[in-house]
Amino acid sequence: MSIKENNLSVYNTLVGKKETFIPVVEDHVGMYVCGPTVYSNVHLGNARTFISFDMIYRYLQHLGYKVRYVRNITDAGHLEDDSDDGEDKISKKARLEKLEPMQIVQHYTVDFHNVLRLFNNLPPDIEPTATGHIVEQIKMARTILDKGLAYEVDGSIYFDVEKYNKDNNYGELSGRNIEELQSNTRTLDGQKDKKSPQDFALWKKASSSHLQHWESPWGEGFPGWHLECSVMSTKYLGEQFDIHGGGMDLKFPHHECEIAQNKAANGKDPVKYWLHTNMLTLNGKRMSKSTGNTLNPDELFSGDTPLLDKGFHPSAVRFFMMQAHYRSMLDFSNDALLASEKGYQRLMNGIALLSSLEAKKESTFDVDTWLKKCYTAMDDDFNTPILISHLFDAIKIANQISDNKASLTKQDLDLFVNSLNSFVFEILGLEDVIVDNNSDKLSGVVDMLIQMRKDARDNKNWALSDEIRDKLKEVGIQLKDGKEGTTFSVN
Ligand code: AMP
Ligand code: ZN
Repeated sequence: MSIKENNLSVYNTLVGKKETFIPVVEDHVGMYVCGPTVYSNVHLGNARTFISFDMIYRYLQHLGYKVRYVRNITDAGHLEDDSDDGEDKISKKARLEKLEPMQIVQHYTVDFHNVLRLFNNLPPDIEPTATGHIVEQIKMARTILDKGLAYEVDGSIYFDVEKYNKDNNYGELSGRNIEELQSNTRTLDGQKDKKSPQDFALWKKASSSHLQHWESPWGEGFPGWHLECSVMSTKYLGEQFDIHGGGMDLKFPHHECEIAQNKAANGKDPVKYWLHTNMLTLNGKRMSKSTGNTLNPDELFSGDTPLLDKGFHPSAVRFFMMQAHYRSMLDFSNDALLASEKGYQRLMNGIALLSSLEAKKESTFDVDTWLKKCYTAMDDDFNTPILISHLFDAIKIANQISDNKASLTKQDLDLFVNSLNSFVFEILGLEDVIVDNNSDKLSGVVDMLIQMRKDARDNKNWALSDEIRDKLKEVGIQLKDGKEGTTFSVN
């Protein structure tokens, strides 16, 4: 399918509805996703957001777009309360562990990459760091100062929200308005320099204990958290680009501030489509580093946690995530994972069965219509749960073909197999692996029953041989007699 025939629509947080996706430059997509702050191990909630954008990246590429995917690493400037107060998260960890901040950054960046590789995420095209773009951040802060939309107080530069709001709408993304913000904002310690509490730092003066700091026209300091994303997205994707993503929790203040900075510096709306993923919850509460309500991927794979009965394969977990729409909340539980694991194994068994089927002269199933439904689901704001329901329909057909209750011509069968493979492996990013730990044991038991049935047949005990076949069928195990003996499939 070429891009021209495609009709992708995406939910744009900026307008609060789905819009037809039309890129700034034909056939090209620029996508920026806020990456992790590398001061601790990545948790499953973080992983969900990055897996969602990996699926989006994969689908855009599948459609034929030339995608430039930029995802940053925050290795400086992110303060503890996400605003302009508290210690820098990385410096604090370095101080506590008596390590260099860059040791902390290296350690957790490697962990982040390892985890995403296990989940079969593709690497982004560019992965810039905040510390690698200090010069550009100083330059953007200076431009905003020169435009009169920021002010300096004692070596720190603050964005003047009220002034910006005179000609712009601070709150256009998050739906907040400035009066509401003013009445709701506490004046925090250390924020006494600001004219107004909702002003935010573009550059902060470093105290003597602050570990990462750089020289600037305003003295030794470090960049504000929001500035790095404005700078790096502009540098690698231009002043106006297609998709900016991140978790919903970043809408405010981070993304709102990004828009304000870009508009102040460049006078243009930076992003055409803002995409936000919903949260992964644990026991109904958001999985979050700061509250400690987290599950680390290691614990998930090994099962070494009271939350789980056993370990799970990363691909089964990815499938669990794909069974929910990226804009829906998803609650993590042992039972939900067990159910996904079963479904995943059924999907893999079905794919194996389909590849072994023989073509016939006629097709009794309309593969083209099925394929259109799959694309319609993905084109509807990447609706993976609906796509997966169509994939299971395909597995049903595979079983019917295997039972001689349906048939496909060679051309249709090839299209069916290729399309199924591309949705499952290329777009959803799943892997062809056995994820169900019990499947080896199951194979052993079924092989034993197949042997008993063969013995019964050899003894002309047809009643017993039929009973074994029928009872297995009742529990979803289908026997198939062929030239090379009897094989089975699990429905
Ligand atoms: P952080 O390292 O805290 O800046 O988070 C990295 C990314 O993970 C951001 O896009 C967050 O929005 C996202 N994120 C954090 N917690 C969750 C969660 N529980 N579910 C989904 N995404 C999350
Ligand atoms: Zn960001």
